[in-house]
Amino acid sequence: MTSFIPVNEPLLNGNEKRYLEQCIDTGWISSEGPFVKRLEEEFAARVGRKHAVAVANGSVALDLAVAALGIGPGDEVILPSFTIISCASAIVRAGATPVAVDCDPKHWNMNVAQVAQRITPRTKAVMAVHIYGLCVDMEALVALCKPKGIAIIEDAAEAHGQAVRGKPCGSFGDISTFSFYPNKHITTGEGGMVMVDDDALAKRCQSLRNLCFQPEKRFVHEELGWNFRMSNLQAAVGCAQLERLDEFTRIKQAMGKRYDSLLAGLDAIERPLPAVAWADNIYWVYGVVLKDHVPFDATAAMQKLGKLGVGTRPFFWPMHEQPVFKKMGLFLGESLPVSERLARRGFYLPSGMALTQAQAERVVEALHEVLA
Ligand SMILES: *Cc1c(COP(=O)(O)O)cnc(C)c1O
Repeated sequence: MTSFIPVNEPLLNGNEKRYLEQCIDTGWISSEGPFVKRLEEEFAARVGRKHAVAVANGSVALDLAVAALGIGPGDEVILPSFTIISCASAIVRAGATPVAVDCDPKHWNMNVAQVAQRITPRTKAVMAVHIYGLCVDMEALVALCKPKGIAIIEDAAEAHGQAVRGKPCGSFGDISTFSFYPNKHITTGEGGMVMVDDDALAKRCQSLRNLCFQPEKRFVHEELGWNFRMSNLQAAVGCAQLERLDEFTRIKQAMGKRYDSLLAGLDAIERPLPAVAWADNIYWVYGVVLKDHVPFDATAAMQKLGKLGVGTRPFFWPMHEQPVFKKMGLFLGESLPVSERLARRGFYLPSGMALTQAQAERVVEALHEVLA
């Protein structure tokens, strides 16, 4: 049998090794090293933001965003149910109430019309999350939230290099966040970024990231923060990766096109949309959804594919169906049918930067076999 095709494999063959050697040679390995500042400056320029604050991962970036906006008990935050746990956990840990909306059946991003219906006098923020390579209709969301004074937290963890009608994802939120986990468009191993324009808000994020140490009285604390710092080693890898973001985006888009043409004859699955009115797909991952006539679900399909040497991942499990939140009395009686269906029928194919044409062809052969 030929080798297993992993669901993700990053490309690390640019300047990563050279920059890491510089860290070792100079002894700068902590967050005080020069690559952290450099990554912040270069990423801020790339996304068109005034400030970037490097953090330990994309999940804590969301914790920081919620804390920096002063969101807490009594506040409601609207978010898509179809997302990663990090989004809801940041809201819940802050003591605020998460309010879930459904997503669009075709582009899988949050339904902005439903956001409008769920706004109450207690709505403090909307957390928008770009999903799987397409993105939220941010212009509509900003037009909805801005006049009402509702803040936007934009989770762009899957949207490096993506843009809404030419304006970069990550430039819309009052606070926007990114992840640099190895399956994202660019990686630092573990890492994340918080983006803002407001100077005071940037200071607050920097302070919360660094235990709220005070410049004058270092070990006297007026507030509780976290150690969410990124190391110079991680940032060194990030600087090398950022140099190749355009190339990586082209690689992913070529992968999307390749799967699209290879899968064109397979009637049993719904494929991702190549574009929406406001953006082209950058294919963070290539997701597929089993049509309703297929007599088994995504779990069974993924098991069969695994036996044929193809790695896959299930789609997100909706926030309103999470046992942990049910136990807390959250989302009780909520029904969001699109998210529920995607969770049960959807999964994604090997989508890493290193995926070859031959591997993609083998993946599609395996899919045909499973769905024959
Ligand atoms: C990956 C991801 C995160 C979390 O990032 P980590 O760096 O893995 O903590 C948050 N939100 C979304 C939408 C993601 O895809």
